[in-house]
Amino acid sequence: MTHAPRTPRHASGALLALIYLAACLAPLALALLRPAAPADPWEHAAAGLGLVALSAMAVQFVTSGRFHVISARLGIDRIMAFHKIAAWWALAALLLHPLLFVLPTWAENPALGTERLTAYLTLPRYRTGVVALAALLLLVLSAALRERLPWQHETWRAGHLVLGMVAIFCGLHHAITAGRFSALGALNGFWWLTGLAVLLILATLYLWRWARLHRAPWRVASVTKRADRIWELDVQPAPGTPPLAYRAGQFAWITTGTHRFPLFDHPFSIADSPRRPGLSFLIKELGDFTSAVPALAPGTPVGIDGPYGNFTLQDHPGDAILLIAGGAGIGPIMGLLRDLAATGDTRPVRLAYAAGHPDNFACLDEIAAAQETLDLRTLLLSEEDTPSWQGQLGRLTHERLETMLSGLDPARSVAMICGPGRMITAVSDALGDLGMPMRNIVYERFDYAGGTSRQDRRHRRHFYGVLGIVALGTAGFALLA
Ligand SMILES: Cc1cc2nc3c(=O)[nH]c(=O)nc-3n(C[C@H](O)[C@H](O)[C@H](O)COP(=O)(O)OP(=O)(O)OC[C@H]3O[C@@H](n4cnc5c(N)ncnc54)[C@H](O)[C@@H]3O)c2cc1C
Repeated sequence: MTHAPRTPRHASGALLALIYLAACLAPLALALLRPAAPADPWEHAAAGLGLVALSAMAVQFVTSGRFHVISARLGIDRIMAFHKIAAWWALAALLLHPLLFVLPTWAENPALGTERLTAYLTLPRYRTGVVALAALLLLVLSAALRERLPWQHETWRAGHLVLGMVAIFCGLHHAITAGRFSALGALNGFWWLTGLAVLLILATLYLWRWARLHRAPWRVASVTKRADRIWELDVQPAPGTPPLAYRAGQFAWITTGTHRFPLFDHPFSIADSPRRPGLSFLIKELGDFTSAVPALAPGTPVGIDGPYGNFTLQDHPGDAILLIAGGAGIGPIMGLLRDLAATGDTRPVRLAYAAGHPDNFACLDEIAAAQETLDLRTLLLSEEDTPSWQGQLGRLTHERLETMLSGLDPARSVAMICGPGRMITAVSDALGDLGMPMRNIVYERFDYAGGTSRQDRRHRRHFYGVLGIVALGTAGFALLA
């Protein structure tokens, strides 16, 4: 029953953007400290792109969503969106890196340019650079095509990690052994420190967390069926394991059984109030891991790594609260509702819960009981009908959202939305049309299908702005070096 301290979110995005810019542009600044042999600005641009891309690749290890200090400030959706865009940026920069080196030669003599490029790609001196580029290319493409590849998620994740390690360590080796600016001096030291930092991050993610998952285990207390293919997993700390300090709405990474290695963990929202001992999760059967949940015997060891995310009312205050759940998205929404009930919150709460079939609705009794203690109005929406279904039919339309908001000031209300990507995109934009400010529309996706909302596009513009500054910095370096 411990409460995690609230993470200040004011200016968090701007601060993280500044840190990102400093990390990416630092090698350029250090390179400028060392006089280099005169060269064509294109060659300097080529070198600069290599330097910033290498730094950006190292930063990708901390923007992977596994660091609470970042995910609690930006939210998991935003940080994953940045991670993906930054990966494409680093790939584009690294693809241009050898090409720009040969561009001036090409312009004068195409045959000689091609010969030089072939030498870069085949000479043993540049081999680790080529391996780094190939690894990054595979990594980015396999991530983009992840849902279409016939691999288990765990296989893909292990591959993602291995390719990331190959890309960064081969890239560092290439910079130190073949780089004009990186061979000696402060920049050389910077790359050694970068390598050390990446090793530390990997040790934290996979060794320290692995040890912690074993040192502080939790145990399955019960698994209860809450709806068709939705199970409530209740876990309690084993003797000696401290309670988890979290805020309602956050999520944790879970592993079960005796081999609790972080690479095999899965994210689940905590469907509970921190005022209750233990943790519960509402889990929908989907694939290997979730389908094994119903068979978990009481006492089974569970590894809990968390809390993560900022899908919380402490981070997003409002005078009135809209809770909007689609399918398995009911998990964090029940966490918020249970906490509001546990604290006797007096604010108006409007809950919309949508699912495909009446059998898919979980915790309906508890939601009905919450109406006794909270100022709660509920809209249940099923896409399919049955004779016993007492809710409404169809989807959460603009009109239904407008009805939910009636009597509330949209500018002072906060909407917490969780569910399939498509629903999030549609509901988020509709709430914006109804006068809710973007900062009050908060969502967390369980999958990344379903397009981009207006808010996603605004965040993307910010990300492009940050990466544009890195590109401008590289252009400045090309002219100054
Ligand atoms: C922040 C967050 C909170 C979530 N909370 C809940 C919740 O409260 N209840 C619930 O039922 N589901 C939740 N999910 C979804 C849940 O993590 C996946 O359904 C689960 O990991 C699927 O694993 P599987 O092996 O059963 O299925 P698979 O068939 O292996 O995977 C199905 C899909 O789930 C995703 N997935 C699988 N493994 C992982 C992983 N380790 N990390 C990230 N995504 C993965 C992939 O997109 C994959 O295509 C949440 C997801 C996220 C990102």
